Amino acid sequence: MEQGLAQSRSILADAGNVAVLSGAGISAESGVPTYRGAGGIWEGFSAAELASAEGFARDPAKVWGWHNQRRMQLAAIKFNAGHKALADLEAQVVARGGTFTLATQNIDGLHQAAGSQNVLELHGTILAIRCSTCTDKRHIGFEPVDDEIPRCRECGAYMRPDIVWFGEQLPADVWEAAAKAAYECDVFMTIGTSAVVYPAAGLIEMAAGTGAKTIEVNLQRTAASGLVNISLQGKAGEILPQLVDLT
Ligand SMILES: [Zn+2]
Repeated sequence: MEQGLAQSRSILADAGNVAVLSGAGISAESGVPTYRGAGGIWEGFSAAELASAEGFARDPAKVWGWHNQRRMQLAAIKFNAGHKALADLEAQVVARGGTFTLATQNIDGLHQAAGSQNVLELHGTILAIRCSTCTDKRHIGFEPVDDEIPRCRECGAYMRPDIVWFGEQLPADVWEAAAKAAYECDVFMTIGTSAVVYPAAGLIEMAAGTGAKTIEVNLQRTAASGLVNISLQGKAGEILPQLVDLT
């Protein structure tokens, strides 16, 4: 572990282009409930009921209310030292002329709250809503919205959370940008994700395939542990600050 930390620190210290994939693990350390596993928010609920276009069509008020409640719970949650370390790393890489791309599976906005600039939200964001029919979209942040489902100002249809629900495709432009970053990076890190959910899991293979150094930070070993150059087990909030010179 000590050796892995030292190696990772040295790789990151002079990395030109860095790409990162983050998942639920880093947010869980801030207290954001995870979708699956013990204490997961799906307990007692059906994912198909609450987070699918079909569920929304069947019972829009229930789906809207549930997402609204989740969004308001997030208002009290703060980013952690892992999020902050990634924002610091981005600033350092960019300052020396490199590129930094943070693709995240999280919908909570915590990376941006910590100061990350170039964030690709693969699964969208719960802090925005979009029309269920046309392309109208707006940021709502933590603005309280009553239980009445907002209507689109353009076409009058229901607005829905701007997140990727079960059975839906990742937004194509966001995915293409993430794939490009994975192909072009010198160092690729996965953080807090078991990397088993495709297509996001494919990013690590793309990066490794072009010879990038790969680093994994996760509580437990994952399906990707055997593929990466360095696998670090522990909390992102404890490991990442050790890999980056903090500002
Ligand atoms: Zn509309």
